[in-house]
Amino acid sequence: MASAPAPGVVVVFDFDRTIIDWDSDDWVITKLGAADAFLRLRPTMRWNPLMDRMMAELHARGKTAEDIRDCLMSAPLDAHVISSIKTAAALGCDLRVVSDANTFFIETVLAHHGVLGCFSEISTNPARVDADGRLRISPFHDTAAAPHGCSLCPENMCKGKIIEKIQSMADTKNQHFIYIGDGKGDYCPSLKLSEGDYVMPKENYPLWKLICNNKQLLKAEVHPWNSGEDLEKTLLKLVNKMITPPAQVSSLDCSKCEMSKPASTEVGHHQALRVPH
Ligand SMILES: [Mg+2]
Ligand SMILES: [Zn+2]
Repeated sequence: MASAPAPGVVVVFDFDRTIIDWDSDDWVITKLGAADAFLRLRPTMRWNPLMDRMMAELHARGKTAEDIRDCLMSAPLDAHVISSIKTAAALGCDLRVVSDANTFFIETVLAHHGVLGCFSEISTNPARVDADGRLRISPFHDTAAAPHGCSLCPENMCKGKIIEKIQSMADTKNQHFIYIGDGKGDYCPSLKLSEGDYVMPKENYPLWKLICNNKQLLKAEVHPWNSGEDLEKTLLKLVNKMITPPAQVSSLDCSKCEMSKPASTEVGHHQALRVPH
């Protein structure tokens, strides 16, 4: 897949309202008819244990894990987002998902649209189907034994801690991040990014608003987007910029030049990067 390596470009995607234009928890609960239970329990429970509880509600109402899978597969995924994932992976970027959804929902959607293999790691709340056939959702962090201690984030997951871990595993100083997200939970990881990194907040959503409130707090460059098409255009423009710095173009071999030929216009870049699928 990685025919033109782009060592050091790490693209981190949030999932809900970023890769998908909807919220997977909301989709499953609403489509499978448990919105009443959700509204009743929401004031009394934190989100992560509530989702585990909602899976119990669905199970009690005769909905199987297969029903949940079918429900997730019936939801749309923007063709531009699929194409941006495939192209970034083909260019050798290290693609990751960091999400407060769960492994079952995310893997189902990404596999259904043929892009699961594009990602090197999915950091999210673990999910499994138990002996009774009920989907169980657990917190990403062991909240009792090892609380993450970040005041910005929900207790089950600090995305900033995940970014710090990826940063600490880097074997090169040339590694740079592109972080794409929309929600409040994406603010903490955005603050962890360094100079030379990029954050792509979804316009008019909580992450974008938090960033706009105090732009000086961020070291990363901010590039908002507002649709799947805009996400693709913005992401591939940034990837192209990162993998073909002008000073290094002459040292690339022919196959790499073929993939990332600098073009004179943004539209040219975009077309040069597109991979048929
Ligand atoms: Mg989100
Ligand atoms: Zn945090």
